[in-house]
Amino acid sequence: MSILVLADLHEGQLAGATAHVVAAAQAIGGDIDVLVAGEGVQAAAEAAAKLDGVSKVRVADNAAYAHQLAEPMGALLVELAGDYTHVLASASTTGKNVLPRLAALKDVSQLSDVIGVESADTFLRPIYAGNAIATVKSDDALKVITIRTTGFDAVGTSGSATTEAVDFVADNAQSSFVKQELAQSDRPELGGAKVVISGGRGMGNGENFKLLDGIADKLGAAIGASRAAVDAGFVPNDMQVGQTGKIVAPELYIAVGISGAIQHLAGMKDSKVIVAINKDEEAPIFQVADYGLVGDLFEILPELESKL
Ligand SMILES: Cc1cc2nc3c(=O)[nH]c(=O)nc-3n(C[C@H](O)[C@H](O)[C@H](O)COP(=O)(O)OP(=O)(O)OC[C@H]3O[C@@H](n4cnc5c(N)ncnc54)[C@H](O)[C@@H]3O)c2cc1C
Repeated sequence: MSILVLADLHEGQLAGATAHVVAAAQAIGGDIDVLVAGEGVQAAAEAAAKLDGVSKVRVADNAAYAHQLAEPMGALLVELAGDYTHVLASASTTGKNVLPRLAALKDVSQLSDVIGVESADTFLRPIYAGNAIATVKSDDALKVITIRTTGFDAVGTSGSATTEAVDFVADNAQSSFVKQELAQSDRPELGGAKVVISGGRGMGNGENFKLLDGIADKLGAAIGASRAAVDAGFVPNDMQVGQTGKIVAPELYIAVGISGAIQHLAGMKDSKVIVAINKDEEAPIFQVADYGLVGDLFEILPELESKL
Protein backbone atom coordinates (compact mmCIF):
# COMPACT_ATOMS: atom_id res chain seq x y z
CA MET A 1 0.00 0.00 0.00
CA SER A 2 1.22 3.49 -0.78
CA ILE A 3 -0.52 6.63 0.34
CA LEU A 4 -0.23 10.21 -0.87
CA VAL A 5 -1.25 12.95 1.56
CA LEU A 6 -1.98 16.38 0.09
CA ALA A 7 -0.50 18.91 2.53
CA ASP A 8 -2.64 21.77 3.80
CA LEU A 9 -0.97 25.14 3.53
CA HIS A 10 -1.85 28.29 5.45
CA GLU A 11 -0.27 31.44 4.01
CA GLY A 12 2.43 29.27 2.43
CA GLN A 13 3.28 27.45 5.67
CA LEU A 14 2.36 23.88 6.55
CA ALA A 15 -0.97 23.90 8.37
CA GLY A 16 -1.55 21.75 11.46
CA ALA A 17 -4.20 19.69 9.68
CA THR A 18 -1.56 17.77 7.72
CA ALA A 19 -0.22 16.04 10.85
CA HIS A 20 -3.73 14.69 11.51
CA VAL A 21 -4.12 13.43 7.94
CA VAL A 22 -0.74 11.66 8.19
CA ALA A 23 -2.07 9.99 11.36
CA ALA A 24 -5.05 8.74 9.34
CA ALA A 25 -2.62 7.45 6.69
CA GLN A 26 -0.71 5.59 9.42
CA ALA A 27 -3.95 3.94 10.52
CA ILE A 28 -4.38 2.65 6.95
CA GLY A 29 -0.76 1.45 6.90
CA GLY A 30 1.86 1.47 4.15
CA ASP A 31 4.33 3.97 2.73
CA ILE A 32 3.28 7.57 3.23
CA ASP A 33 4.33 10.40 0.92
CA VAL A 34 3.25 14.01 1.38
CA LEU A 35 2.64 16.32 -1.58
CA VAL A 36 3.41 19.98 -0.89
CA ALA A 37 2.10 22.04 -3.82
CA GLY A 38 2.23 25.81 -4.01
CA GLU A 39 4.64 28.63 -4.78
CA GLY A 40 7.58 29.31 -2.47
CA VAL A 41 6.76 26.30 -0.31
CA GLN A 42 10.26 25.17 0.67
CA ALA A 43 9.68 25.89 4.38
CA ALA A 44 6.39 23.99 4.28
CA ALA A 45 8.15 21.06 2.61
CA GLU A 46 10.83 21.03 5.31
CA ALA A 47 8.12 21.03 8.00
CA ALA A 48 6.31 18.17 6.24
CA ALA A 49 9.56 16.16 6.15
CA LYS A 50 9.63 16.25 9.95
CA LEU A 51 6.22 14.61 10.36
CA ASP A 52 6.51 11.14 11.89
CA GLY A 53 5.77 8.28 9.53
CA VAL A 54 6.40 10.17 6.28
CA SER A 55 8.80 8.49 3.83
CA LYS A 56 9.04 11.15 1.17
CA VAL A 57 7.88 14.70 0.57
CA ARG A 58 7.10 15.53 -3.07
CA VAL A 59 7.39 19.25 -3.71
CA ALA A 60 5.53 20.90 -6.61
CA ASP A 61 6.82 24.46 -6.25
CA ASN A 62 5.42 26.41 -9.16
CA ALA A 63 3.29 29.50 -9.84
CA ALA A 64 0.67 27.16 -11.35
CA TYR A 65 -0.13 25.93 -7.83
CA ALA A 66 0.20 29.30 -6.07
CA HIS A 67 -3.42 29.51 -4.96
CA GLN A 68 -4.17 25.81 -4.97
CA LEU A 69 -6.92 26.20 -7.57
CA ALA A 70 -8.84 22.98 -8.07
CA GLU A 71 -8.04 22.61 -11.79
CA PRO A 72 -4.21 22.61 -11.71
CA MET A 73 -4.16 20.79 -8.38
CA GLY A 74 -6.50 18.13 -9.77
CA ALA A 75 -4.30 17.70 -12.84
CA LEU A 76 -1.22 17.40 -10.62
CA LEU A 77 -2.86 14.73 -8.47
CA VAL A 78 -4.00 12.80 -11.54
CA GLU A 79 -0.39 12.86 -12.74
CA LEU A 80 0.90 11.46 -9.42
CA ALA A 81 -1.99 9.18 -8.41
CA GLY A 82 -0.76 6.23 -10.46
CA ASP A 83 1.94 5.64 -7.85
CA TYR A 84 -0.56 5.26 -5.02
CA THR A 85 -3.43 3.17 -3.65
CA HIS A 86 -4.82 6.04 -1.53
CA VAL A 87 -4.86 9.83 -1.87
CA LEU A 88 -5.79 11.69 1.30
CA ALA A 89 -6.43 15.34 2.12
CA SER A 90 -8.03 17.08 5.06
CA ALA A 91 -11.73 17.92 4.75
CA SER A 92 -10.75 21.61 4.58
CA THR A 93 -11.99 24.03 1.95
CA THR A 94 -8.97 23.12 -0.19
CA GLY A 95 -9.34 19.36 0.28
CA LYS A 96 -13.05 19.54 -0.45
CA ASN A 97 -12.33 21.61 -3.55
CA VAL A 98 -9.50 19.55 -5.00
CA LEU A 99 -10.15 15.89 -4.20
CA PRO A 100 -13.57 15.53 -5.87
CA ARG A 101 -11.88 16.66 -9.09
CA LEU A 102 -9.27 13.91 -8.75
CA ALA A 103 -12.01 11.36 -7.99
CA ALA A 104 -14.03 12.44 -11.02
CA LEU A 105 -11.04 12.41 -13.37
CA LYS A 106 -10.06 8.93 -12.14
CA ASP A 107 -13.70 7.78 -12.22
CA VAL A 108 -13.69 6.56 -8.61
CA SER A 109 -15.98 7.32 -5.67
CA GLN A 110 -14.72 9.77 -3.11
CA LEU A 111 -15.00 8.97 0.60
CA SER A 112 -15.63 12.21 2.47
CA ASP A 113 -15.19 13.31 6.08
CA VAL A 114 -13.62 10.06 7.23
CA ILE A 115 -13.22 9.89 11.03
CA GLY A 116 -12.00 6.31 11.46
CA VAL A 117 -10.15 3.54 9.64
CA GLU A 118 -11.33 -0.08 9.91
CA SER A 119 -8.99 -1.42 7.25
CA ALA A 120 -7.31 -0.29 4.05
CA ASP A 121 -10.65 -0.29 2.21
CA THR A 122 -13.20 0.26 4.99
CA PHE A 123 -13.74 3.57 6.71
CA LEU A 124 -16.05 5.33 9.16
CA ARG A 125 -17.77 8.60 8.34
CA PRO A 126 -20.52 10.60 10.05
CA ILE A 127 -23.92 11.01 8.41
CA TYR A 128 -27.06 12.91 9.44
CA ALA A 129 -25.01 15.72 11.03
CA GLY A 130 -23.04 13.22 13.09
CA ASN A 131 -26.06 11.37 14.49
CA ALA A 132 -25.04 8.11 12.87
CA ILE A 133 -21.70 6.72 11.78
CA ALA A 134 -21.63 4.89 8.45
CA THR A 135 -19.13 2.14 7.75
CA VAL A 136 -18.18 2.46 4.09
CA LYS A 137 -16.21 0.00 1.98
CA SER A 138 -14.58 1.05 -1.28
CA ASP A 139 -13.75 -1.42 -4.03
CA ASP A 140 -12.03 1.21 -6.16
CA ALA A 141 -8.38 0.58 -6.97
CA LEU A 142 -7.62 4.17 -5.97
CA LYS A 143 -9.19 5.42 -2.75
CA VAL A 144 -9.73 9.18 -2.69
CA ILE A 145 -10.47 10.29 0.85
CA THR A 146 -11.00 13.52 2.76
CA ILE A 147 -10.19 13.25 6.45
CA ARG A 148 -11.98 15.00 9.25
CA THR A 149 -8.92 16.02 11.25
CA THR A 150 -10.69 15.94 14.62
CA GLY A 151 -10.93 12.14 14.24
CA PHE A 152 -7.17 11.55 14.39
CA ASP A 153 -4.53 12.79 16.85
CA ALA A 154 -1.66 14.61 15.11
CA VAL A 155 1.57 12.70 14.54
CA GLY A 156 4.79 14.03 16.10
CA THR A 157 7.55 15.96 14.38
CA SER A 158 10.65 13.86 14.89
CA GLY A 159 10.71 12.46 11.35
CA SER A 160 13.31 12.98 8.64
CA ALA A 161 11.73 12.21 5.28
CA THR A 162 13.52 12.78 1.99
CA THR A 163 12.25 15.48 -0.36
CA GLU A 164 11.89 15.23 -4.12
CA ALA A 165 10.90 17.91 -6.64
CA VAL A 166 7.91 17.27 -8.90
CA ASP A 167 8.60 18.64 -12.36
CA PHE A 168 5.08 18.30 -13.75
CA VAL A 169 3.48 21.71 -14.36
CA ALA A 170 -0.25 21.65 -14.87
CA ASP A 171 -1.74 23.60 -17.74
CA ASN A 172 -3.85 26.18 -15.99
CA ALA A 173 -5.89 27.60 -18.86
CA GLN A 174 -9.29 26.85 -17.33
CA SER A 175 -9.16 28.99 -14.24
CA SER A 176 -7.30 31.98 -12.92
CA PHE A 177 -6.90 33.55 -9.53
CA VAL A 178 -8.67 36.90 -9.20
CA LYS A 179 -8.40 37.94 -5.55
CA GLN A 180 -9.00 36.83 -2.03
CA GLU A 181 -10.24 38.81 0.92
CA LEU A 182 -8.94 37.49 4.20
CA ALA A 183 -10.10 38.52 7.64
CA GLN A 184 -6.95 39.64 9.46
CA SER A 185 -6.67 38.27 12.95
CA ASP A 186 -3.89 37.74 15.46
CA ARG A 187 -5.90 35.00 17.06
CA PRO A 188 -5.26 31.31 16.44
CA GLU A 189 -6.92 29.73 13.43
CA LEU A 190 -10.37 28.40 14.43
CA GLY A 191 -9.83 24.88 13.13
CA GLY A 192 -6.55 24.35 14.99
CA ALA A 193 -7.10 26.37 18.19
CA LYS A 194 -6.74 24.65 21.58
CA VAL A 195 -9.41 26.91 23.06
CA VAL A 196 -12.48 28.25 21.25
CA ILE A 197 -15.07 30.66 22.60
CA SER A 198 -18.17 31.03 20.43
CA GLY A 199 -21.07 33.44 20.58
CA GLY A 200 -24.61 32.84 19.40
CA ARG A 201 -27.77 34.80 18.77
CA GLY A 202 -27.88 35.49 22.49
CA MET A 203 -24.99 37.94 22.02
CA GLY A 204 -27.62 40.32 20.60
CA ASN A 205 -25.43 42.11 18.04
CA GLY A 206 -21.95 42.25 16.55
CA GLU A 207 -20.76 44.95 18.91
CA ASN A 208 -21.42 42.69 21.88
CA PHE A 209 -19.02 40.07 20.44
CA LYS A 210 -16.31 42.38 21.83
CA LEU A 211 -17.27 40.93 25.23
CA LEU A 212 -15.60 37.71 24.06
CA ASP A 213 -12.33 39.45 23.07
CA GLY A 214 -10.88 39.91 26.56
CA ILE A 215 -11.58 36.30 27.52
CA ALA A 216 -10.19 35.05 24.22
CA ASP A 217 -7.02 37.13 24.79
CA LYS A 218 -6.54 35.68 28.24
CA LEU A 219 -7.10 32.09 27.11
CA GLY A 220 -5.31 32.38 23.75
CA ALA A 221 -8.59 31.33 22.18
CA ALA A 222 -10.05 31.56 18.70
CA ILE A 223 -13.51 33.10 18.43
CA GLY A 224 -16.33 31.23 16.72
CA ALA A 225 -20.04 31.74 16.25
CA SER A 226 -23.29 29.95 15.64
CA ARG A 227 -24.97 30.17 12.28
CA ALA A 228 -27.73 32.33 13.74
CA ALA A 229 -25.08 34.88 14.77
CA VAL A 230 -23.52 34.73 11.31
CA ASP A 231 -26.84 34.92 9.46
CA ALA A 232 -27.83 37.94 11.58
CA GLY A 233 -24.67 39.67 10.36
CA PHE A 234 -23.07 39.86 13.83
CA VAL A 235 -19.80 38.34 12.56
CA PRO A 236 -18.28 37.04 9.27
CA ASN A 237 -19.23 33.57 8.09
CA ASP A 238 -15.68 32.17 8.36
CA MET A 239 -16.35 32.15 12.11
CA GLN A 240 -19.24 29.70 11.84
CA VAL A 241 -18.93 26.46 13.77
CA GLY A 242 -21.18 23.55 12.87
CA GLN A 243 -22.49 21.24 10.22
CA THR A 244 -22.22 23.89 7.52
CA GLY A 245 -19.33 25.71 9.18
CA LYS A 246 -16.05 24.60 10.68
CA ILE A 247 -15.63 21.38 12.65
CA VAL A 248 -13.59 21.99 15.79
CA ALA A 249 -12.45 19.75 18.66
CA PRO A 250 -10.40 21.97 20.96
CA GLU A 251 -9.32 21.18 24.53
CA LEU A 252 -11.88 23.73 25.72
CA TYR A 253 -15.00 25.02 23.95
CA ILE A 254 -17.04 27.80 25.54
CA ALA A 255 -20.51 28.33 24.03
CA VAL A 256 -22.04 31.68 24.94
CA GLY A 257 -25.69 32.43 24.18
CA ILE A 258 -25.91 29.34 21.95
CA SER A 259 -28.93 27.06 22.34
CA GLY A 260 -27.16 23.89 21.14
CA ALA A 261 -29.03 23.04 17.94
CA ILE A 262 -27.99 19.72 16.47
CA GLN A 263 -26.29 21.44 13.53
CA HIS A 264 -24.13 23.46 15.92
CA LEU A 265 -23.30 20.39 18.02
CA ALA A 266 -22.17 18.62 14.84
CA GLY A 267 -19.27 21.07 14.71
CA MET A 268 -18.10 21.06 18.33
CA LYS A 269 -19.37 18.08 20.31
CA ASP A 270 -16.01 16.29 20.13
CA SER A 271 -14.37 19.10 22.13
CA LYS A 272 -12.61 17.74 25.22
CA VAL A 273 -14.28 20.08 27.73
CA ILE A 274 -17.43 22.04 26.91
CA VAL A 275 -18.60 25.03 28.92
CA ALA A 276 -22.00 26.55 28.20
CA ILE A 277 -23.26 29.95 29.31
CA ASN A 278 -26.99 30.37 28.75
CA LYS A 279 -29.85 32.00 30.61
CA ASP A 280 -32.22 29.15 29.75
CA GLU A 281 -31.48 26.15 31.94
CA GLU A 282 -33.47 23.96 29.52
CA ALA A 283 -31.20 24.86 26.57
CA PRO A 284 -30.03 21.65 24.81
CA ILE A 285 -26.42 22.83 24.95
CA PHE A 286 -26.40 21.79 28.62
CA GLN A 287 -26.90 18.16 27.56
CA VAL A 288 -23.42 18.10 26.03
CA ALA A 289 -21.76 20.59 28.40
CA ASP A 290 -19.29 19.46 31.07
CA TYR A 291 -19.83 22.74 32.91
CA GLY A 292 -22.90 24.93 32.67
CA LEU A 293 -23.41 28.49 33.83
CA VAL A 294 -27.08 29.44 33.90
CA GLY A 295 -27.39 33.19 33.77
CA ASP A 296 -27.23 36.38 31.78
CA LEU A 297 -24.14 36.40 29.59
CA PHE A 298 -23.90 40.18 29.93
CA GLU A 299 -23.23 39.71 33.64
CA ILE A 300 -21.26 36.47 33.43
CA LEU A 301 -18.76 37.44 30.71
CA PRO A 302 -17.33 40.55 32.45
CA GLU A 303 -17.14 38.60 35.72
CA LEU A 304 -15.43 35.65 34.01
CA GLU A 305 -12.92 37.97 32.36
CA SER A 306 -12.08 39.73 35.61
CA LYS A 307 -11.65 36.37 37.42
CA LEU A 308 -9.38 35.05 34.65
C1 LIG B 1 -29.10 22.62 7.03
C2 LIG B 1 -28.78 23.43 8.25
C3 LIG B 1 -27.47 23.64 8.55
C4 LIG B 1 -27.12 24.38 9.69
N1 LIG B 1 -25.79 24.57 10.00
C5 LIG B 1 -25.48 25.20 11.15
C6 LIG B 1 -24.11 25.36 11.55
O1 LIG B 1 -23.18 24.97 10.85
N2 LIG B 1 -23.86 25.98 12.72
C7 LIG B 1 -24.85 26.46 13.54
O2 LIG B 1 -24.53 27.01 14.61
N3 LIG B 1 -26.14 26.34 13.18
C8 LIG B 1 -26.47 25.74 12.00
N4 LIG B 1 -27.79 25.67 11.64
C9 LIG B 1 -28.77 26.44 12.40
C10 LIG B 1 -29.22 25.78 13.67
O3 LIG B 1 -30.33 24.94 13.39
C11 LIG B 1 -29.68 26.84 14.71
O4 LIG B 1 -30.67 27.66 14.13
C12 LIG B 1 -28.55 27.75 15.19
O5 LIG B 1 -27.44 26.97 15.59
C13 LIG B 1 -29.06 28.57 16.37
O6 LIG B 1 -28.05 29.46 16.77
P1 LIG B 1 -28.03 30.02 18.25
O7 LIG B 1 -27.91 28.89 19.19
O8 LIG B 1 -27.01 31.09 18.28
O9 LIG B 1 -29.45 30.74 18.34
P2 LIG B 1 -30.74 30.36 19.20
O10 LIG B 1 -31.17 28.97 18.94
O11 LIG B 1 -31.71 31.46 18.98
O12 LIG B 1 -30.22 30.39 20.68
C14 LIG B 1 -29.84 31.55 21.35
C15 LIG B 1 -29.58 31.16 22.79
O13 LIG B 1 -29.09 32.29 23.49
C16 LIG B 1 -29.63 32.26 24.79
N5 LIG B 1 -29.60 33.64 25.29
C17 LIG B 1 -30.28 34.72 24.81
N6 LIG B 1 -29.97 35.81 25.50
C18 LIG B 1 -29.08 35.43 26.46
C19 LIG B 1 -28.41 36.12 27.51
N7 LIG B 1 -28.56 37.43 27.71
N8 LIG B 1 -27.60 35.41 28.33
C20 LIG B 1 -27.41 34.07 28.14
N9 LIG B 1 -28.04 33.37 27.17
C21 LIG B 1 -28.86 34.04 26.33
C22 LIG B 1 -31.02 31.71 24.62
O14 LIG B 1 -31.50 31.16 25.85
C23 LIG B 1 -30.82 30.68 23.54
O15 LIG B 1 -30.58 29.40 24.09
C24 LIG B 1 -28.13 24.93 10.51
C25 LIG B 1 -29.46 24.69 10.18
C26 LIG B 1 -29.78 23.97 9.07
C27 LIG B 1 -31.24 23.72 8.74
